[in-house]
Amino acid sequence: FVKSSVIEGTQFEDDSDQETIDAKDILKRELQDERKTLPIYKFRDELLKAVDEYQVIVIVGETGSGKTTQIPQYLHEAGYTARGKVACTQPRRVAAMSVAARVSQEMGVKLGHEVGYSIRFEDCTSEKTMIKYMTDGMLLREFLGEPDLAGYSVVMVDEAHERTLSTDILFGLVKDIARFRPDLKLLISSATLDAEKFSDYFDSAPIFKIPGRRYPVEVHYTKAPEADYIDAAIVTILQIHVTQPPGDILVFLTGQEEIETVDEILKHKTRGLGTKIPELNICPIYANLPTELQAKIFEITPEGSRKVVLATNIAETSLTIDGIKYVIDPGFCKIKSYNPRTGMESLLINPISKASANQRAGRSGRTGPGKCFRLYTSYNYMHDLEDNTVPEIQRTNLANVVLTLKSLGIHDLVNFDFMDPPPSEALLKALEQLFALSALNSRGELTKTGRRMAEFPLDPMLSKMIVASEKYKCSDEVMSIASMLSIGNSIFYRPKDKQVHADNARLNFHTGNVGDHIALLNVYNSWRETDFSTQWCYENYIQVRSMKRARDIRDQLEGLMERVEIEVCSNASDLDAIKKAITSGFFHHSARLQKNGSYRTVKNPQTVFIHPSSGLAQLLPRWVIYHELVLTTKEYMRQVCTVSPELSKP
Ligand code: ADP
Ligand code: MG
Repeated sequence: FVKSSVIEGTQFEDDSDQETIDAKDILKRELQDERKTLPIYKFRDELLKAVDEYQVIVIVGETGSGKTTQIPQYLHEAGYTARGKVACTQPRRVAAMSVAARVSQEMGVKLGHEVGYSIRFEDCTSEKTMIKYMTDGMLLREFLGEPDLAGYSVVMVDEAHERTLSTDILFGLVKDIARFRPDLKLLISSATLDAEKFSDYFDSAPIFKIPGRRYPVEVHYTKAPEADYIDAAIVTILQIHVTQPPGDILVFLTGQEEIETVDEILKHKTRGLGTKIPELNICPIYANLPTELQAKIFEITPEGSRKVVLATNIAETSLTIDGIKYVIDPGFCKIKSYNPRTGMESLLINPISKASANQRAGRSGRTGPGKCFRLYTSYNYMHDLEDNTVPEIQRTNLANVVLTLKSLGIHDLVNFDFMDPPPSEALLKALEQLFALSALNSRGELTKTGRRMAEFPLDPMLSKMIVASEKYKCSDEVMSIASMLSIGNSIFYRPKDKQVHADNARLNFHTGNVGDHIALLNVYNSWRETDFSTQWCYENYIQVRSMKRARDIRDQLEGLMERVEIEVCSNASDLDAIKKAITSGFFHHSARLQKNGSYRTVKNPQTVFIHPSSGLAQLLPRWVIYHELVLTTKEYMRQVCTVSPELSKP
């Protein structure tokens, strides 16, 4: 029956109401059977009893045992959603989306109806939503509108072991509201065994352990350190593919760029392998991967071929891909680090911790014995890797969190109930920065500007820039710039065979050496003038997808403008006004040209350079303001605009 409805596709739409329901039913039944095979299923009733009995429970279970997808459904089946929504937080956007999609399938409902997700700039929920997967950052923001989370009956802080900044802050907040909301249930779930610490923090909450299935994993190390782990990873993938029995491969890389590089090289290399070697399906997965492609990693590998998943850390514990037998672990991840003394934040490629290495290896032994190939030596593992990753709260800029806490009425930050307190230097730095942005007054209280800034789900510097645009009457332009900056650097593309054309197209937006911010504005406005034409994007070597995302973000910012009562008005001809608004947010990011062509940052003197991709890279203006620093071969300023020194004073 499936066959005929697929062939007569249009008919399927028209007259097969009955058939669609059947097809859905079959899928649902299959998935229901699959649910029962997960390790957590045997503990369903016991778990529900524990939830009934205790207000707070710490749940520990091997990755893939079914915590994230099953527990919210159990709670729903047991009637908790009749009293309020069940929230389940995830540190990563992709995980929230992917898991919500899976659970909606299992329940046979449309995503966004009974089961939905909410991530920054994207709310896929409705009035009907009972199970809500969301990033930890989004739940944090919900406190702003609903400080007691009255709409929720259960909050499950999932992937607690990741200890993201937002998760750590959530701990303090949910612990607090649990005291005056005895009806609220709290589940803290984690993939690792350091559950004692969570239990201690939550006043000796009981620990519920879900024994996982784990098959033995053979761990292999390299004999000598690898000079180039990308290269080593590719060689290892091909070796496994050619010499090892069937089973899919999971490779951990640090980010989109690496994944794309490996993807490209692999495609190239496997082309010449001939017909004797089975097909290798390459599936990338990373945060900015378009939604349509994310589901591909879960597709079952056709008989006779092999899948290789190129993933970021997301596949370490957040997502479980069935069928993985081989793991390749180069031993690195991208990690944010922050120097409170200089106020500099950077995303750096760092060695992983032992705990991470063990999680990664474990991904190969879920459905049968596995093999893990570590692209480092056993000496490295023993002596160079830290035991655990330092919690994010101890290595990040806290300005955003401090602003959120202040707007929640939490003034005494030093005595906030942190599981691991941040360095006091970092707290002070955050207060100082917010004061400089006029978000706080000299007594550390939230100002009207600060209150408005807190409404925007953006870095305080960006929200200040937007709030300041009111004064300079250019909110229309500044919102567009902020949205474009929020996309990251995936707006322009540069196909290998058309680099000159692409570069020329790009230069058009820089006419008059306006700087990168205004160039981004030009891109957005030109696109808007064509009525958001896709063709136009192709012609100008611009990624349609990124532009659409920028437009979505912009729509949301515009909605928030209404809330903070800032009129949307345009002042496109006055570039100085726009730059003044940018400067109001980013004056800390000013730098002055030195004799040798480098720049010196003003706030915390440091030598930096204009990124070669900037429209101002050749021009070297005397004073600039930059959006961010990126460290590659040198410390580069990315997205730069010219300012006059008068502008760069607060
Ligand atoms: P845990 O949270 O304990 O790590 P999960 O609930 O995430 O476990 O995973 C349970 C099972 O659901 C795994 O076998 C996983 O492969 C499957 N699963 C999760 N998300 C998806 C998805 N989007 N598509 C297909 N299968 C999925
Ligand atoms: Mg999980």
